[in-house]
Amino acid sequence: MKPLILIVEDETPQAEVLRYNLEKADFRTSVAVSGEEALVKVDEEQPDLVVLDWMLPELSGLEVCRRLRANKETRGLPVIMLTARGEEGDKIRGLDSGADDYVVKPFLPSEMVARVRAVLRRARPSLAEDHLEYGDISVDLTEHKVTRGGRAVHLGPTEFRLLTTLMERPGRVFSREQLLDLVWGRNIHVEERTVDVHIRRLRKALNNERMPDLIRTVRGAGYSLDLEKT
Ligand code: CA
Repeated sequence: MKPLILIVEDETPQAEVLRYNLEKADFRTSVAVSGEEALVKVDEEQPDLVVLDWMLPELSGLEVCRRLRANKETRGLPVIMLTARGEEGDKIRGLDSGADDYVVKPFLPSEMVARVRAVLRRARPSLAEDHLEYGDISVDLTEHKVTRGGRAVHLGPTEFRLLTTLMERPGRVFSREQLLDLVWGRNIHVEERTVDVHIRRLRKALNNERMPDLIRTVRGAGYSLDLEKT
């Protein structure tokens, strides 16, 4: 699915320019006109990145960014802050508040799109890249093809998303709850043991008798993809 970018900007013409250019660059967009609305939309729509104007009525962009960083569910959400030219002190405060990047108004739309791509590539490789590799596993994200050691691996859509999620952060242990949020979506009710069922299917598809199992089960914690697995 195309990455969803939440644009937080109270000036309609500016928001429209951003929306037009991001959609032309093949992103989905959503617009919030205040900091309060932005926080609601982050929760409801789970965007992949937020373009956040500093100057907003009431709750400022800076405060919105701080709140996103203080919440464990949105701590890692990429944020690009927009501010007025010449406010160098703002730049430092913006980055201090946890923004991933900073763009000065007025900006060229092409520059903005390039920043969005760069920040996404760092934060969520599977959204910006067309290819992921880990060990002898290779995933073509455009064609939805997976190979292991050159051999084609056939996965269902859920196992495919599970694998790409684990491959984005090799070595990191994901709890069942985190995997449900990332693979199934936060607002969908699925029991945690469903994760175990799909992990089992993923293992079966990836491994054959000669290949080591790269999926590590961490008792009481969850799962990770790990070459160092013992
Ligand atoms: Ca504004």
